[in-house]
Amino acid sequence: MTAIQPRSNVTVELVKSSATDSDVATAARVSTIGGSHTAEVDLMKDAGLINFLMRDRHGSPFEHTSFTFYVEAPIFVAREFFRHRAGFSYNEESGRYKQLQPSFYVPAVDRPLLQVGKPGAYSFKQGSDAHFARMAANMLHAYNEAYEAYEDMLKAGIAREVARMVLPVGLFTSFYVTCNARSLMHFLGLRTKSHTATFPSFPQREIEMVAELMEDHLAEQMPLTYGAYNSNGRVAP
Ligand SMILES: Cc1cc2nc3c(=O)[nH]c(=O)nc-3n(C[C@H](O)[C@H](O)[C@H](O)COP(=O)(O)OP(=O)(O)OC[C@H]3O[C@@H](n4cnc5c(N)ncnc54)[C@H](O)[C@@H]3O)c2cc1C
Repeated sequence: MTAIQPRSNVTVELVKSSATDSDVATAARVSTIGGSHTAEVDLMKDAGLINFLMRDRHGSPFEHTSFTFYVEAPIFVAREFFRHRAGFSYNEESGRYKQLQPSFYVPAVDRPLLQVGKPGAYSFKQGSDAHFARMAANMLHAYNEAYEAYEDMLKAGIAREVARMVLPVGLFTSFYVTCNARSLMHFLGLRTKSHTATFPSFPQREIEMVAELMEDHLAEQMPLTYGAYNSNGRVAP
């Protein structure tokens, strides 16, 4: 039997991007001064324009940008992620065409384990060492059993698309996702928790881990846009 590989982290790699602040400013200026894509970049003017676009929610200029990410995350995170439809394109690894690798998610020791409160008004707090030990032991046991059953069926010649039915949502999957700055900001507004957000969201921690890594790339590639996004309450335009 193949040994399972527990993981507590996620992977987000920026595969390619075509996304700058001046892409946004140039697209916006076509409405006032016509095509200005050969003009030199004026960061001061661009900053003011981008802030205006963000504040007044003129969102379409932000769509003239593109980010392609490669993500490795548990299936339950991918399921949440794929709910984002507008401005997102996806391709995911196939459990029909290849054997799925035994990589399974086990939360890190600092991940809050206890839910306190009622649906719609709850928070999470740290579990004890005993809670963590119990969680980890149960997950590893279940993952081992599931992967053993999966491999047993594959060895018997049962099709991958059937054998995979025993695998749990803690299994890692991988996918490519392409989005633009506007759809990315909408995603970040819903999938990160921020005390500065005009509309606070309370995402599951694991998709937030993915979102935080994506957010770093937005900040790096489009600093003016990112600054305006934050100073306008993290509301996607
Ligand atoms: C904290 C949290 C908890 C959640 N819990 C649940 C849950 O329990 N069950 C569940 O099923 N989902 C749940 N979701 C998923 C949620 O309902 C959305 O599907 C997901 O956040 C994607 O948001 P979106 O539709 O705005 O994004 P996108 O699909 O990217 O759409 C972006 C925007 O485009 C517009 N749009 C897109 N499609 C349409 C359409 N068909 N008609 C009209 N306008 C459209 C809307 O303005 C939308 O906001 C949860 C999400 C979060 C963040």
